[in-house]
Amino acid sequence: MNENFDLIEKNIAEIQSEMSAYTGAHLMAAIKTRSDAEVRKAYECGVRYFGENRVQELLAHYECVRSLPGAKLHMIGTLQKNKVKYIIDKVDMIESLDSVSLAEEINKRAEKCGVKMPVLIEVNIGREAQKGGVMPEELEGFLAETARFENVLPKGLMTIAPVCEREEDYARYFSEMVSLRDNVLKKYMNDGEEPLLSMGMSGNYREALKYGSNFVRIGTGIFGPRAYFTNSDMQK
Ligand SMILES: *Cc1c(COP(=O)(O)O)cnc(C)c1O
Repeated sequence: MNENFDLIEKNIAEIQSEMSAYTGAHLMAAIKTRSDAEVRKAYECGVRYFGENRVQELLAHYECVRSLPGAKLHMIGTLQKNKVKYIIDKVDMIESLDSVSLAEEINKRAEKCGVKMPVLIEVNIGREAQKGGVMPEELEGFLAETARFENVLPKGLMTIAPVCEREEDYARYFSEMVSLRDNVLKKYMNDGEEPLLSMGMSGNYREALKYGSNFVRIGTGIFGPRAYFTNSDMQK
């Protein structure tokens, strides 16, 4: 395990100072492959949102995150229907809702546990064949079809943008997310809350912040390179 606590502290301080101008933005640590000690270090440095990709790793981090007062745990990775039952009473939000059948399963399990699960709908903003997420043009139909699930609460949209050469190239994707939020999602949220955008990772969070991201999900930019867990794992 390659933990470098001084580096984590320095990275978080830098990101937080860049974020200080953006009042609605939260820093989320993407903690896949990281140790509980690294999670606790990030917490000590002020991080309150933690995102996990895989159900098994989420369960492994669960006790640690729950022991930290005020810490929130979000599922941010592809979620298989048959695994919803393991996390439904353990996460504060599911950010990777990408199919009607998954919404149906979350609804069923949430109802059983007597909870209403806040979700973000994952949008495939680059329309990439290998990636999950609802296509932008399908978002409206998706929202209409899932509105009947009373134990699933849509709170916003999440995306993993296609990899671009330059940071400014992300602008078109993030601005399209803003437009989906304002022109499509808002019609389906009638609880008076402002809809959330979860977008921006280590390589593009500055651009995402300019477009009003509420959650930037940062892994390597906080903890350094990952020893394993490839990009294709993440994008499945
Ligand atoms: C890993 C991951 C991140 C963070 O990626 P980095 O490039 O390490 O910052 C953000 N979002 C999701 C869904 C991820 O799986």
